[in-house]
Amino acid sequence: MRMGTKVVRAGIPPTRQGEPFATGVTFAGTYHVAGDPTTSPYTYGRYHNPTWTQYETALNQLEGGQAVAFASGMAAVAAVFGVSLRPGDVLVMPSDCYYTSRLLADGFFAEMGVEVRKASTAGNAQLQCLEGAKLLWLETPSNPGLEVCDIAMLAAVAHEQNILVAVDNTTATVLGQEPLALGADFSMASDTKALTGHSDLILGHVATRDPNLADRLRSWRTQIGAVPGPMEAWLAHRSLATLELRLERQCRNALEIARFLTTRREVTGLRYPGLPSDPAHPIATRQMRYFGPVVSFVLADEVRADRFLNSCQLVTQATSFGSVHTTAERRARWGGDDIPPGFIRFSVGCEDVNDLLHDVEQALDTL
Ligand SMILES: *Cc1c(COP(=O)(O)O)cnc(C)c1O
Repeated sequence: MRMGTKVVRAGIPPTRQGEPFATGVTFAGTYHVAGDPTTSPYTYGRYHNPTWTQYETALNQLEGGQAVAFASGMAAVAAVFGVSLRPGDVLVMPSDCYYTSRLLADGFFAEMGVEVRKASTAGNAQLQCLEGAKLLWLETPSNPGLEVCDIAMLAAVAHEQNILVAVDNTTATVLGQEPLALGADFSMASDTKALTGHSDLILGHVATRDPNLADRLRSWRTQIGAVPGPMEAWLAHRSLATLELRLERQCRNALEIARFLTTRREVTGLRYPGLPSDPAHPIATRQMRYFGPVVSFVLADEVRADRFLNSCQLVTQATSFGSVHTTAERRARWGGDDIPPGFIRFSVGCEDVNDLLHDVEQALDTL
């Protein structure tokens, strides 16, 4: 079955006469369990939930491994760190990956005695600091800089040295790129972003092909308690069905907007892995099916960037990305990323691209 069919069908139970096509959400704190609890598939809401099971069944088929859903993308990041890293271990991560992932590594995990080494995503620079590492963390395309690294090559080199490899696949989604097929041990994503794509929930997951690691991830979730809400899991599964429709449209729109931005003299530092002129394009075409919904670029300074954003009528100022609604923000307002003050992270939605182009053009004209 192709990915485009899987996203629509995966995890939907066999149809039965007179039964609804899709099962509803199961809200449950506890379940009726008499006697020996091992005879019951469900016992208590922190351990398991039928709505999670359905969502994870869908993700299993898409990821090609066992998926474990978490309360948020950060709960999923923390689970991978938590099941793999012990005091004295070395974590190699991108210097330009998602800010909160770096904060977690440099804060709680470094305080516990984990050595954190960082190198840029561009140029596969993490290769240079692998010696003696336990876990190699990759994020490609990186958020917000949209740098790309070669997952298959890095995973092969890391595995020769017995290093576990994790990919934060949030920007691409599993439809855009399949980390486990490219050799990663963990495929992690914030499902808050493009995977679910409606700006209405917080969720994450980790997938792995190693049953032992999958068990450890589930134990971590149960003991830490970073469990997804049943409603979120249900909404996420429902949203999966339109993933390819959304992503196809978003990526087509993103490429058109990136092309338009190349014609504007106000714009520098334009990045979109789908642009043939982008430095990341050669690796991206080898490992990605879709280039993602995010475009980034730089305006002269903070004042000009804010004027651009305030002049947009259709594009909404908001953090996060990957939604059906086009959003943008001046990323440096948060701090923590090595980017210029006028850096814009632009997340392209599913609107008619002509309306988007018109809005961006009239906002740039005000500069
Ligand atoms: C948003 C994001 C996360 C964290 O996800 P939450 O769902 O907000 O916890 C992790 N990695 C990347 C690349 C992200 O963009």
